[in-house]
Amino acid sequence: MENVKSGKKLQEMLTYSVKHIAKRDRDAVEKSFEFCEGYKDFLSRSKTERLAAANILEIAKANGYTQYDSAKVYFAGDKVYLNNRDKSVILATIGTNTLDKGVSIVASHIDCPRLDLKPNPMYENNEIGYFKTHYYGGVKRYQWAAMPLAIHGVVVKTNGEKVEIHIGEDPADPVFCLTDLLPHLSKDQAERKMRDVIKGEEMNVVISSLPYRDDEVKEAVKLTALALMYEKYSITEREFINAELEVVPAGGARDVGFDRSLIGAYGHDDRVCAYTSLMAEIEADAPAYTTVSVYADKEEVGSDGVTGMHSDFLEHFIIHLAQMQNVDPLMVLRNSKCLSADVNAAYDPTFRDVMEPRNSCYINRGVVITKYTGSGGKGGTNDTTAEYMAEVTNLLDSKGVFWQTGELGKVDQGGGGTVAKFVSQKNVDTVDVGVPVLSMHSPFELVAKTDVYATYKAFQAFLNR
Ligand code: MN
Ligand code: MN
Repeated sequence: MENVKSGKKLQEMLTYSVKHIAKRDRDAVEKSFEFCEGYKDFLSRSKTERLAAANILEIAKANGYTQYDSAKVYFAGDKVYLNNRDKSVILATIGTNTLDKGVSIVASHIDCPRLDLKPNPMYENNEIGYFKTHYYGGVKRYQWAAMPLAIHGVVVKTNGEKVEIHIGEDPADPVFCLTDLLPHLSKDQAERKMRDVIKGEEMNVVISSLPYRDDEVKEAVKLTALALMYEKYSITEREFINAELEVVPAGGARDVGFDRSLIGAYGHDDRVCAYTSLMAEIEADAPAYTTVSVYADKEEVGSDGVTGMHSDFLEHFIIHLAQMQNVDPLMVLRNSKCLSADVNAAYDPTFRDVMEPRNSCYINRGVVITKYTGSGGKGGTNDTTAEYMAEVTNLLDSKGVFWQTGELGKVDQGGGGTVAKFVSQKNVDTVDVGVPVLSMHSPFELVAKTDVYATYKAFQAFLNR
């Protein structure tokens, strides 16, 4: 610090900033574009947690994973899958270390905000047939009106047979929709608060409008829809009670922008982390630490339920692995490390008032590491340790992975959570790592291809640590 000239050098040495990936490595752009072709295909075929689970299992089986059997002994390099009720999945590759050294957990979620059909969904009102829905997760309800919607899910018939329903993705299929009010008559609606522009009980899906050809019957328009469903799926109204039918935006992932640098789609949160961690998991080849890649359900409603991360299915799996090697499961957990693989809100210049620019994540700057989430003074957060932040960021630096940090918006602007706290409560060091997303939780979320690729590289580095 002897003279003024060294100021620029000193600044370089002392300050820290993150640049656009394309300004740091042009080759990364090309690789990202290539990688994202596979992602777009996966995302377009994975419109529900069940479809995502099925596609993950199919890819796993094609890559040598066999069904996990707690009575069997597995050796380094062996690959297993655990299917939790067709709605969440664990994949693991046995490592060369003994399990008491801990495992590498990457936990993403494959459920997304959507509209679920109610148990008694079908009705008719003024000769229009409808499904009643109950929205799932954090949705801005107005975004779902007046746009094409598809229906996916399962119905378990009274005879036990499981019927899959998928309508609205094939261009030849019909689609469904919610109606909205015309601007001409929206004087009162315009005074509603944003959350009530479309109210919960107004989320009624149009399904039919022709009466069944029999003047004797009442509710003949509803009967038309029931008759068509019976013809195609052999299901009756009674059987909707044993069903999980989800209404989601119709159509697949699309490139966005003249330069095709972005992907627009429903469901990036969090299938983008599921896919990137899946690609890193299937490549893992006898890693030092056993890899445990979790694709969880129910994150968008708080991770409760038997297929969510509040359930002990992950812990039970780890206990069984420990028993296989006669090691203490508590030691396995104590020495394990976890990346909670979930998206964060990218800085949106149009809505910058809610963002804190120094601590937001930005598209095209790489995978985002989020030390804490939560709301109202870090309420309900994992907030990882300085030591684990250092471990993860140093690991990514050593592997040349493009990364940045992020916080979910300004202090007291709102907030959110991930599965991080459910893994860390098992005594496992955990931090949130994922892709920055614009328009998160909307029917058309945006991610940058370079960030998707950087996130894959981050999981690859972690699983091969
Ligand atoms: Mn998420
Ligand atoms: Mn979410």
